[in-house]
Amino acid sequence: MDTTIKDLGEFGLIEKIKTLFGKPQDALGIGDDCAVLPFDKTNLLVTVDTLIENVHFFSNHPLDKLAIKAININISDIVACGGYPKWAFLSLSLNPQTKTSQIDLFLESLQKCFANSNLELLGGNTTKDDKLSINITLIGETDKPILRSSAKENQDVYVTGKIGCAACGFFAIKNNLKESDECLNRFLAPKARLDLIEKIKPYATAMIDISDGLLQDAMHICTSSNIGMDIILENINLCESKYLSDIDKITFGEDYELLFCADKKYRNSLLEIKDVKLIGYTNNSKKLTIYNKGKILTPQKYGFRHF
Ligand code: ADP
Ligand code: MG
Repeated sequence: MDTTIKDLGEFGLIEKIKTLFGKPQDALGIGDDCAVLPFDKTNLLVTVDTLIENVHFFSNHPLDKLAIKAININISDIVACGGYPKWAFLSLSLNPQTKTSQIDLFLESLQKCFANSNLELLGGNTTKDDKLSINITLIGETDKPILRSSAKENQDVYVTGKIGCAACGFFAIKNNLKESDECLNRFLAPKARLDLIEKIKPYATAMIDISDGLLQDAMHICTSSNIGMDIILENINLCESKYLSDIDKITFGEDYELLFCADKKYRNSLLEIKDVKLIGYTNNSKKLTIYNKGKILTPQKYGFRHF
């Protein structure tokens, strides 16, 4: 019997594509938060992400907040590679019955985000569909790309910000429950950690943004860098909301915080940065191990997968 995409899985499909198309000659392609294109004396970073109605957001997602989300999930990938966003392409699929006032709300909010981050819109594409979908390609720049693949064993592992708020916000909206504005906004209109990049960049050996769950994204660094990691659950600054378990909070994703590794000699400097927490250590085990008060946890899943 013919197998399906569900059998292959999201990462199985990406691996298949990577093998079929081969390695690019003068760029870093599939496998990191962005593609890296050495250009002149700098590096261009390119990333693309799609948000689809009823897959990534509910139909009643306020459109001004959706615009913030759409651009920030892309900015987050640029930041994860140690760069700054510069240029964007915007592709929209729209239902013809969509009210123009709603699209104005979306576009005005998006334009404000562009102005605040010195971003320029260079083009895009517009098509008809039953459901709203937003696809943004973002181009950024960095003098020093920070990759998922350059962590070494015996380094510290850090994470920024609070983890699990978006998960709790999503859960509350889905189940019509009351929730703090912090959690609701972290799901509806997340902000990429552009504010931290300059402080972290001098020290980070490898970095990823947390879009699919802290554990799964930590695992990506392990696999890409061919290392292992011990993560200490009680060291993570977890969202206080009572709706979800600690494991749910570290496997749901959509935090858009940064997880990175750094040499131990920089520990004092990094711990002085507000919002940066030491949550673990790298090793040569090639496995990700999660400790909860000294006991090993074995979660059923590590993070979000489309298939
Ligand atoms: P992120 O969560 O950081 O956006 P993804 O997990 O979506 O990253 O993607 C991981 C890597 O796989 C990235 O380098 C991305 O460019 C690549 N990728 C994902 N889907 C495809 C695809 N359909 N074709 C080619 N590359 C892909
Ligand atoms: Mg990413």
